[in-house]
Amino acid sequence: MTAKVIDGKAFAATVRAQVAEHVARLHEENGLQPGLAVVLVGEDPASKVYVRNKHASTIEVGMASFEHRLDAETGEAELLALIDSLNADPKVHGILVQLPLPAHLNSELVINRIDPAKDVDGFHISNVGLLGTGQKSMVPCTPLGCLMMLRDHHGKLAGLNAVVVGRSNIVGKPMAQLLLGDSCTVTIAHSRTKDLAEVCRRADILVAAVGRPEMITGDMVRPGATVIDVGINRIERDGKAKLVGDVHYASAAAVAGAITPVPGGVGPMTIACLLANTLTACCRANGLAEPEGLTA
Ligand code: NDP
Repeated sequence: MTAKVIDGKAFAATVRAQVAEHVARLHEENGLQPGLAVVLVGEDPASKVYVRNKHASTIEVGMASFEHRLDAETGEAELLALIDSLNADPKVHGILVQLPLPAHLNSELVINRIDPAKDVDGFHISNVGLLGTGQKSMVPCTPLGCLMMLRDHHGKLAGLNAVVVGRSNIVGKPMAQLLLGDSCTVTIAHSRTKDLAEVCRRADILVAAVGRPEMITGDMVRPGATVIDVGINRIERDGKAKLVGDVHYASAAAVAGAITPVPGGVGPMTIACLLANTLTACCRANGLAEPEGLTA
């Protein structure tokens, strides 16, 4: 079997187009423009690229983008004061603090200072609790993107066996909660899981969020399963820099029914979902109906 490739790049473009359409309608019918504020502290090169991409995508869909670049020595009080002002600003519907923060800043304290209704990353403890109890929340962007691709591919997910490899707060745990919300039977695997290959082979849906290049190989995949590769790993092969996932693509694609590539799978969906979350936050803040198909 050769797996169907789930084209995250194309799907993300569709999501962005849907968001842009909603944004235009909000402007026309309600005189509103959703706004996203991104806060970057320091000079981390990867973070700077992410922030630049987020800014460009935000503008492209017709939203307002507010960038706040602070130097690496910025103190906690100054950062918290900025978040307070963004919380109070009616033009700002979504706030994202780019992680990781410099070591002297307490990330949890900073994230939990964001108004949960504007927490478009879905990392605020209130949103984590709401998701965990099956209530309406802001959902972390990467797992939301994975869920959208799975719903698009499978239609209904109820009753499917899902295995999520990785239990981080930003990917693994929320991914598992979302799959549970769609009535999958969910297993979460991690570094202490016994016989990981056997656990993975039970999966109709296998999500890899490990951070280890090409760790999930074809022999760990059930024939016909859907494989979602969240991993982004920069490696060197044959003297060249290369981006690979947590899944060994060639061997897994030979067994799976469908698979996301790296790059061009989950990655593009993350920014698309950030825009979708900002739109959702704007609609909720103004008592308007949420955009259909763009939330969990
Ligand atoms: P973390 O490092 O926070 O978590 C990794 C998880 O993998 C942990 O739960 C860990 O288990 C588990 N793990 C590590 N080694 C093994 C192993 N040998 N067997 C089984 N489980 C193992 O990573 P993140 O969740 O933040 O990210 C995961 C990957 O996703 C990374 O490659 C990251 O770059 C990528 N990513 C991609 C995004 C995108 O937009 N596409 C967004 C966010 C992340 P334990 O808890 O026991 O230590």
